[in-house]
Amino acid sequence: MAMRLNVLASGEGGSESLPVTVLNGVGPKLAEKLKRLGLYTVQDVLFHLPLRYQDRTRLLPIGGLRPGMEAVVEGEIELADVVFRGRRSLICRVSDGTGRLHLRFFYFSAAQQANLARGRRLRLFGEARFGPAGLEMIHPEYEFTDGAAPAKPEENLTPVYPATTGVHQLSLRKLARQALEKYLDKIEEWLPLPVLQELQLPTLTEALALVHQPPPHTPVELLAEGKHPAVLRLAFEELLAHHLSLKRLRAHSQQQSAPRLASAHANDNPLMSQLIAALPFKLTGAQQGVLAEIRADLARAHPMQRLVQGDVGSGKTIVAALAALVAVENGYQAAIMAPTELLADQHLRNFSGWLEPLGVVVVGLSGKLNGRARQDALEKIGSGRADIAVGTQALFQEGVEFAELGLIVVDEQHRFGVHQRLALREKGSLGSRRPHQLIMTAKPIPRTLAQSLYADLDVSVIDELPPGRKPVETVAIPSARRADVVRRIRDACTVGRQAYWVCPLIEESETLELETATDTAQALQEALPEIRIALIHGRMKPPEKEKIMTTFKRGDIQLLVATTVIEVGVDVPNASLMVIENAERLGLSQLHQLRGRIGRGDAESHCVLLYQPPLSEMARARLAALRETSDGFEIARRDLEMRGPGEILGTRQAGMPQFHIADLLRDHALLPRVQQVAELLLREHPRSVNPIVRRWLSGAETYGNV
Ligand code: ADP
Ligand code: MG
Repeated sequence: MAMRLNVLASGEGGSESLPVTVLNGVGPKLAEKLKRLGLYTVQDVLFHLPLRYQDRTRLLPIGGLRPGMEAVVEGEIELADVVFRGRRSLICRVSDGTGRLHLRFFYFSAAQQANLARGRRLRLFGEARFGPAGLEMIHPEYEFTDGAAPAKPEENLTPVYPATTGVHQLSLRKLARQALEKYLDKIEEWLPLPVLQELQLPTLTEALALVHQPPPHTPVELLAEGKHPAVLRLAFEELLAHHLSLKRLRAHSQQQSAPRLASAHANDNPLMSQLIAALPFKLTGAQQGVLAEIRADLARAHPMQRLVQGDVGSGKTIVAALAALVAVENGYQAAIMAPTELLADQHLRNFSGWLEPLGVVVVGLSGKLNGRARQDALEKIGSGRADIAVGTQALFQEGVEFAELGLIVVDEQHRFGVHQRLALREKGSLGSRRPHQLIMTAKPIPRTLAQSLYADLDVSVIDELPPGRKPVETVAIPSARRADVVRRIRDACTVGRQAYWVCPLIEESETLELETATDTAQALQEALPEIRIALIHGRMKPPEKEKIMTTFKRGDIQLLVATTVIEVGVDVPNASLMVIENAERLGLSQLHQLRGRIGRGDAESHCVLLYQPPLSEMARARLAALRETSDGFEIARRDLEMRGPGEILGTRQAGMPQFHIADLLRDHALLPRVQQVAELLLREHPRSVNPIVRRWLSGAETYGNV
């Protein structure tokens, strides 16, 4: 990122700033390899948690071995032989009086072969499995015990770390042991003891010691699943660090300056009022409320950072347009950014339709624009002749200079993380002043999650749909009854309605998805020769998509067969029927988003969820939830209950912070406490805030330093 604000003076660090090379045995070569595991510092080594554990603390009688067990056993070699069964291998039969075990070596030296002789006693560690002649271990670790006194068994469970080529378990173990020995007592505890006691979590030092060297009988399944207090302790602090970092960022934004976009005439923005008066509908109470919040933000001399959540169809676009008008009335420009060309085009049409009659100049700028048209748009944006620019990410690419940008509206950017938000704000800054930022999303996410992930933002909710919307009637129908569904399409189209037929991604391949959609469109056309059908998909060129969407919007296409490209934002109120194929494979929130494309007009709307039986219990619950409710927040709540936040937020990488240890999917129950503890620290232990953030977020991720 171009700019480093260095909001915070950074003090000298602890193990987070010591390179791995301070550990014995780590030279530049190994350090290079460790980077592949994300291990740069001693602290990274400490935070590199084992995947699982081996129990080498006790000897197991061979007779007690079961397939799949990893264990230490001891015994005497009864028989050693090189056999050729498909492959040359050395087989030893070992017995301890309680049972027998075969050892199988595919690779062995002559010396090994000579040593592994009948009558020798050895201690073994390996995984027992079923072999051709009973239990066997393939390439076990072994040590002779008939000479000198054998090594003591391990005191603690043995960690198995995520490894990479060229870095052995053994060296990872040694490094972790060394890091614990030398640096554990230098790790500072930043969480107040009463807080830990109340949460019933161990100290950081105790937690690290336990995860790397758990004493025998530690419930290792809990460790591996991240449910053990030691892991929770680490996850908690990491979540806390992210949260604090966002809070700090927010505090920092509050200190930056932004143009005051207030009304010159006592609480009246004439253009805004004109537009409101010209609308064919009345704003809902929720829209008015959110607009008032936005106006209050815009009137302040600090950049607004507001997220507006509103269910699909709740009317976010007009709110964005009204906010943009406030900027324009104050002599500033506004930029409206949409995630796809399709949506950008739709916004351009809407904004132009609403605003041009008021004398406001609206230009479009997206990736498809080039040559003269692009130059022209750039010139208008740069000279300030354009009041409002509507487009895709292209709006903020190299070469685009705004004359005086006062407001950025970001619509439906689910993949928009805190870095992108900040980068955009920097990009649009006027000297030391930052533009206001309004982010709009139809993905309702539960409150606790929103408060954590968007702790740098203020959140408004449009929790009311425009009046007259009838809930979409939703049914689930097995795919065997497809013919009935096709008939319903014919009936709907015959009375002048329009319909969507959605073929979502089933295979992990866009090509296959496309094939399915193409075949479906063909089959439907054969079944419905009198209906005007078109296909739209993600691979099409933007102008082609645009043409189809315009034709559909005009009503000249009656049935639109689509891949999931129509998921966000598309608004065609006359479409009142939607068929979603393979609905059982889609997530609840995604189905809800898709369904939100209908039920936008005054006609009764229907959504048919076609599924392939048999339904899993989960799929059944999802389809039931959709039938029962059309409230996005309720859907999000149920989705969270059923599948956890990862699904609700889309994929894990979608603008989400990357955690070392925490996992929102697993740990979201910690979030309310994380927020409380963050408040407490900011209030009562402000000096511990920076060290905690620094410990968990390395340079690039430190939001306060973007
Ligand atoms: P979303 O919140 O999903 O972006 P849109 O802004 O696309 O929703 O609005 C959906 C439809 O509702 C549009 O056709 C829009 O013109 C219309 N609309 C918005 N606000 C109202 C309202 N208060 N009353 C009636 N219709 C409205
Ligand atoms: Mg929208």
